[in-house]
Amino acid sequence: MAHPIAEFVHGGLRLVGSSLAGEESYVTAPELNLAFDVGRAQRDLLAVDHVFLTHGHMDHAAGIAYYFSQRMFLDNPPGHMYVPEILVDPIRRLLRVWADIDGNEPPANIHAVQAGTDVILRRDLIVRPFAVNHPCLRRGRCPAPALGYTAIEVRHKLIDAYQNLTGPQLVELKKQGVQITRRLEIPLVAYCGDTAAGNFLDLDYVRNSKVLLLECTFVDPDHLDRARAGGHLHISDLPAILPRLNNEKIVLIHLSRRTALAVARTVLRQTLGPGGDERVSFFMEHRQRWRPAVRESEPPAEA
Ligand SMILES: [Zn+2]
Ligand SMILES: [Zn+2]
Repeated sequence: MAHPIAEFVHGGLRLVGSSLAGEESYVTAPELNLAFDVGRAQRDLLAVDHVFLTHGHMDHAAGIAYYFSQRMFLDNPPGHMYVPEILVDPIRRLLRVWADIDGNEPPANIHAVQAGTDVILRRDLIVRPFAVNHPCLRRGRCPAPALGYTAIEVRHKLIDAYQNLTGPQLVELKKQGVQITRRLEIPLVAYCGDTAAGNFLDLDYVRNSKVLLLECTFVDPDHLDRARAGGHLHISDLPAILPRLNNEKIVLIHLSRRTALAVARTVLRQTLGPGGDERVSFFMEHRQRWRPAVRESEPPAEA
């Protein structure tokens, strides 16, 4: 069955992907050349070089081997996947098992990441992982938390005191080893993956990120227990969370597949009251297009 793809645009930031709890969840930022989660490795995702995996649950991670394999068949350079440390060995094993089944082991760059340690993608772009409130593996088996990620633009601004100096004067200062710029971080988009509420929402680079992608799996009042048991957010958690957030846009992802969008929208309006919160929308309401049933290019003969 064809799957809808959502496209959400805010300022210069474009987010494309699909997110439905238990089925598939991934969001790409094509202009930043990165994605959050791999989902089932749909075509949008194959074009990005850097994939940040939040945790091991199948709806977020099923396409790991397919991503690396397709990158090879499409003659793209090997992809980079950044994953919680606990998943590095299992993913390497997974790729080896696929090599036994498929006959090919594609090149794969797997990087272990830790909360608080930046991944530097470019001089002006970093990704900062943070721990969220959801198990990395199925419950009972895993003490390690899942991770969320914020993509942060880094600018180097001339320090005010040096604003009026000429080019040669600035070069001279630099030669003397004087620091003439200051580092400025602009959090662009934070992706929380699967999570219940937690202190991570108070992190500067999460609550001040221009766009926050926040899960909201359950909306039915009878499903509050399920949300608590699974480490997920329930729509009734939002009134306590939203006032803490300073984001320009808050985009809700990972809605349960049993919940129609129209119903979710109605419950959201009821939950937030008459004034509402105009920053908030569901990712999948920004649906733009359907995946084409036919590939644009022929698959390789041996595939
Ligand atoms: Zn999930
Ligand atoms: Zn999960």
